[in-house]
Amino acid sequence: MTLNILFAANAQRWADYETHLHAALSDLGMIDYQLAEQIDPKDVDYIIYAPDSALQDFTPYVKSKAVLNLWAGVEAIVGNPTLHLPLARMVDPSMTQGMMEWVTGHCLRHHLGMDTHITATPGTWEPSAPPVTWDRKIAVLGMGALGAACARSLAALGFEVHGWSRSLKQIEGLITHHGPDGLRNALNGADGVVLLLPKTPETENTLNGDTLPFLAQGAFVLNPGRGPLIDDAALIEALNSGQIGHATLDVFRIEPLPQDDPYWRHPNVTVTPHIASETRPAYAAKIIAENIRRGEAGEPFLHLVDRNRGY
Ligand code: NAP
Repeated sequence: MTLNILFAANAQRWADYETHLHAALSDLGMIDYQLAEQIDPKDVDYIIYAPDSALQDFTPYVKSKAVLNLWAGVEAIVGNPTLHLPLARMVDPSMTQGMMEWVTGHCLRHHLGMDTHITATPGTWEPSAPPVTWDRKIAVLGMGALGAACARSLAALGFEVHGWSRSLKQIEGLITHHGPDGLRNALNGADGVVLLLPKTPETENTLNGDTLPFLAQGAFVLNPGRGPLIDDAALIEALNSGQIGHATLDVFRIEPLPQDDPYWRHPNVTVTPHIASETRPAYAAKIIAENIRRGEAGEPFLHLVDRNRGY
């Protein structure tokens, strides 16, 4: 029987994904299927989904087997009360690679103090060498697909990396902490912190007026996770006082970041427009196709979201 696969995302994404999805399904030997932007809901077997899709009511999708999210973050769909289907999120090697590059690049910028020399007045000669990486402590909050990969690449460069997660983890080359009590030890005296937590009620404002002072004076903050992980007013205050030396922020409570947001003009803030890591269609299509194959073979889906935990 023909498999009906609905693509529920905006028109630009359909243009980006259509060819790659056909290729990935065909590579897995799937021939008898329909892949389309419009299919009668009662006939749909799988829903490939982006949370900014017009589809918000899953009630009519009575025979569907799974919703396959194109994004890593699921905060915009996980609480949908009409969704009772298994929900898989996107974990893809190209997204992980992109995040590792963004995080290590921005860590090295701050570690090496690159701005000092890039923005120096020509003719000034003020040698100031940074310490080596193994004299720097970096805290990575979130030890999931992205956080653990970034932590490993920072550790490979020599940084003393402390990872923090909800549950206990043992990862070679890293010092790990977990649970609410572990946060202070992860942050304590760190020269930099990287936020790669999902947005859930528990993770909101993880960096706030109480936790920012755990960091070393002049530490840097990198947030490629989600805007609400940081209490913005507390961060601005810490930047103004010099407690935080620089913040490089890729994600915000409101995106695009409003023109009048103080982050745009703060001299010690770098704003990047939610580009730390993209879902790349050629790679993501393979993950989606593999999950459809698994569903049809009766095998467990990859990267299922735990609806109770919210990620
Ligand atoms: P993931 O695999 O689900 O990992 C999440 C990590 O956060 C896990 O280690 C988890 O702990 C930890 N965590 C969750 N709640 C916690 C809590 N209350 N206390 C302590 N630790 C907690 O997620 P991922 O794939 O690494 O992605 C992380 C986030 O990155 C996504 O949710 C998304 O928001 C963001 N992201 C941003 C971009 C971008 O371009 N800026 C791109 C992709 C993703 P356990 O291991 O114990 O479960």
